Parts: sequence; structure tokens; C-alpha cells
Amino acid sequence: MSDSVAIEPSVLDNISIVLINTTHPGNIGAAARAMKTMGLSKLVLVEPHEFPSGKAYALASGADDLLANARVVSTLEEAVADCHFVVGTSARVRGVSLPLVDPRACAGQILGEASSGRIALVFGREDRGMTNEELQMCHLQVHVPTNPDFSSLNLGSAVQVMTYELRMAWLAASQGEVPLPSPRAHDLASQDDVERFYEHLYKTLVQIGFLEHSSHEKIMAKLRRMYGRIRPDRVELNILRGILSETGKCAEKAGRLEASGSDLEK
Ligand code: SAH
Repeated sequence: MSDSVAIEPSVLDNISIVLINTTHPGNIGAAARAMKTMGLSKLVLVEPHEFPSGKAYALASGADDLLANARVVSTLEEAVADCHFVVGTSARVRGVSLPLVDPRACAGQILGEASSGRIALVFGREDRGMTNEELQMCHLQVHVPTNPDFSSLNLGSAVQVMTYELRMAWLAASQGEVPLPSPRAHDLASQDDVERFYEHLYKTLVQIGFLEHSSHEKIMAKLRRMYGRIRPDRVELNILRGILSETGKCAEKAGRLEASGSDLEK
């Protein structure tokens, strides 16, 4: 039996391009044009500085439907809440050592994932890219291997490179040339479920005294990376959250006993 995925045009509709805090509306238009030429249609804008805008429509050169249907949200969490796989892009290789791949290498993986649910491909601000916290919401970090001395592509160009590779991978898969990796069949967790799990984990680790204030960020970044690698499904996340709830109850009980013990000592 083959491991490959039956590939349909609608697979490209499962991929959202997310632009964070774009400053120049022309770049939103250029991104829409890049997407439409490559057969993608879902654009999500996280707090754009100026949108809707005539400049965006001018640079979209007719990809007006993508701009008209763009979803505008106020946080990245909201933008990716219904996705089960999130890919971040970065002009610089960061300290957040997520698995780092080039566009060609990850295009097949993104399509494979898109055949079983929603995927987000996230782009940062023109002046400073994505923050480390935003990259920590991603499963993969993609870097276009540009000149290390001049590594930053224009936002619209970065969208073009990524969507071109997705189209090439999609064409190859549709023609049966390259089998895509099979997605996992079981009940995938959405990013919203995963973020709620991280909140619960953080709260419990503070409650039991495992997280000291100074080390919070680094430890949580490493835990996110680990769970991002494992990618627990919905049922597994519920088990983990059940364990956290019981751990929290034990900690509360221990706290009460300790308090009553110290009352007795008085
Ligand atoms: N000065 C910023 C660059 C921002 S460019 C920085 O150093 O991070 C705007 C966005 O385009 C980036 O956030 C990223 O999403 C995308 N981009 C630009 N160059 C890229 C590259 N070489 N590889 C991957 N994405 C890139």
C-alpha cells in the first residue's frame, strides 16, 4: 500500500498566509498577488497598520478578491487558533532553535499536513520580522537561504518564494511524481487546544514551585519545542491536562496541610 496522499486542488485552500503587523499596505497587495498567481487564496492579517487601502489594491493587480476576503484579527493566537500546523518564516536564524528548513524541503511537508487540516504560514513585520514569542508558536522555522550579508527579502518577495515552492510541490504531487508524506490520521489538536495546554502547564509548574521566575521563559520555550516535536493529538492533550489538574489539586492539598501544620506549631 502506498503512503502517499491523494492530492486535490482544495489542499492549497487549507493553507493560510498570515502577515503580522504589516506596515506598508502595498506589501499586503503584493502578497495577495503572489498568492493568487500560485493558487492560494486565504489571507489573514494580524493588526495591519493600514487596511483596507488603495495602495494594497494597486499592488494586488487584480487579486482583489483575496484582499476583500482577507480576515483581519488582532493577535497571532487568533490567526492560527484553528490550525494544527504552524510554520514561521525568518530572515535571520534565531536563538529559538526550532527545526530550521528551506522552502523546498518543507513545501511537501506543509502540503501533506494541509491534506488533513488547516495550516498557517506566518510572515513577520518589515522592520523586525517575527518576535521570538511568535516563533515559539510555530512547529517549523523556514529560512530562504539568502546571502548571509544581505539576508532580508521584501515581504511580498518572501511570500512569492514560499508560495512558488508550495505550487511546485503541489504540481509534482498532483502528477504523481513525488508522494507527499502521510499526515497523521488521528484527531489532530488545534493550536488553540495546544495554547490552552501550555497555559495550564505553566500555571501548574509555577504552582508546584518548579518554575522559578528567572528561568520561566527559557524552560517554557524548551517545553514548547518538545511538545511541538511530539505534537500530541486531542486525546493525548486531554490526558496531559488531566494529569496537570490532579497535580494542581495535590499541590493545593499539600499547601493546606502545610498551613494547618504551621498553625499547630504556633
Ligand atoms: N528585518 C527583518 C526582516 C523582515 S522582512 C528581520 O531581520 O527579521 C519581512 C518578513 O519577510 C520576515 O519577517 C519574513 O517573514 C520574510 N522574510 C524576509 N526574508 C526572508 C528570508 N530570507 N527567509 C524567510 N523569510 C524571509
